Amino acid sequence: MHILSSHTEKTELQLLVRGLVYAPGDASFAAEIAAFNLATRHAPELVLSAVDADDVVAAVRWAAARDMSISVQSTGHGAANAINGGLLISTRLMLELSIDPEEQTARVGAGVRWRDVLKAAARYGLMGLHGSTTDVGVVGYTLGGGLPLLGRKYGFASDHVLAFDLVTPDGVLRRVDAGSDPRLFALLRGGKGNFGIVTAMEFSLFAADELYAGGIFYDGTHAREVLAGFRAWIAHLPAEASASLAFLRLPDMEDVPGFLRGKFVMHLRFAWQGSSDEGARLLAPMRAAAPMLVDGVGPLPFSRVDEIHADPEHPVPVHEGGMLLKDLDAGLEEALLRLAGPESMAPLLLAEIRLMGGALAVPLKGLEPEADCVGGREAALSFFAVGIMAPQIAHLVPAAIEAARSALKPFGTGGTMLNLHGHLTSPELAASAWPEAAHVRLSEAKAELDPKNLFRHGHAILPQAVSGHTAVA
Ligand SMILES: Cc1cc2nc3c(=O)[nH]c(=O)nc-3n(C[C@H](O)[C@H](O)[C@H](O)COP(=O)(O)OP(=O)(O)OC[C@H]3O[C@@H](n4cnc5c(N)ncnc54)[C@H](O)[C@@H]3O)c2cc1C
Repeated sequence: MHILSSHTEKTELQLLVRGLVYAPGDASFAAEIAAFNLATRHAPELVLSAVDADDVVAAVRWAAARDMSISVQSTGHGAANAINGGLLISTRLMLELSIDPEEQTARVGAGVRWRDVLKAAARYGLMGLHGSTTDVGVVGYTLGGGLPLLGRKYGFASDHVLAFDLVTPDGVLRRVDAGSDPRLFALLRGGKGNFGIVTAMEFSLFAADELYAGGIFYDGTHAREVLAGFRAWIAHLPAEASASLAFLRLPDMEDVPGFLRGKFVMHLRFAWQGSSDEGARLLAPMRAAAPMLVDGVGPLPFSRVDEIHADPEHPVPVHEGGMLLKDLDAGLEEALLRLAGPESMAPLLLAEIRLMGGALAVPLKGLEPEADCVGGREAALSFFAVGIMAPQIAHLVPAAIEAARSALKPFGTGGTMLNLHGHLTSPELAASAWPEAAHVRLSEAKAELDPKNLFRHGHAILPQAVSGHTAVA
């Protein structure tokens, strides 16, 4: 491991870049490295707050010359595991954003959040394939596949990328698209930050047509009826409609709306891009499934899509874990109730199932046979659990997440959704975020394209050819 000898190295890097470089002890160091998950404390040797692609090129070359590992952070929403050592490149100031209304495309810098894209695209009646919160960074989300709120209608966000500007481990800025480098393009679509730093990305936008969406809360005592209703309902739901269901045990905190504070509730999320009449007709069975505490579903502008999931707006200390599930059958229903239902004592803030399928199940066309690395196309549901690392229960939460994974294993596909994978607790589990064949391709490419394993932080792949799910750091 590289050991930073002195502050002279900070000065050396600072002379090469326009953005500011910070070392531990500098007043802004802590703020610059902070993650959205307050339980994750990054500890790089240096952080560069890059302002443009030239900064990233210079910093990657500088670190590579010293065999110093390189990590990247934009919003910090994906910081499940801590970054230790090396150079952290923060992209939060790389805020280039342009919309081409004719071509219906967007170009974004590495620090742009979905919220900014939706705002800019709305001027032209367009929208992009964001997930449950628009606070997330567009690039980091899309490199992990990107499971959109309207994924069942449009597919994964990475299905709609047109080009990446990528600084590769050799410190060269390349434009990577389906024509210029189909292999690297496919590796980036779901391969996360393993092949360098994306400085900008271009992708398709879609018509921001009428949306009928929102959330329904039920008292947790009705968990069994709500879950049974959900199972019957999704069997007949059109492939374009999105839905998810969460068991929520909310803390008694000011951030939580009064009617939910300290309560155990079921939260149904629904999104239908189409007429309100049709949306209301589709949702009717769930409105009748159990008495509703609050019915927040109706016509919704894209500027308010964060209301659908109502994810936390401020950083929280959490431990998380997810997996992909085969089907919602009676066995899974019972397992979910045991895990998170009214009688459960598990310290889980949230246990949710998101409906997959529809366009998410369709293999990416056009670059066969190895068009991308995204997993989850075969799954019926994505499961995700979160526990708050509050001092009184912090010692129990990681075990509760592992227990949830074990309890649901018989119903799993064996894979996880990269973006909703949670903490990296074992090499085998980390590798299961990719389909097996994709993982082999990624490992082989990693050995070739990042032979010094400079990009070894985050959801990393070991640079060696392997033939299974066994050799990931
Ligand atoms: C509240 C919440 C809700 C979420 N909802 C969804 C959802 O609905 N659907 C979904 O798919 N995901 C969802 N996610 C997961 C999120 O998409 C991932 O955590 C994603 O990695 C966040 O990207 P970021 O850049 O914002 O985070 P960061 O923590 O800044 O980055 C995470 C990782 O992305 C990679 N990365 C980021 N920028 C670059 C870059 N420029 N070049 C190369 N690699 C880069 C790196 O590996 C980095 O470690 C959610 C996360 C949270 C916290």
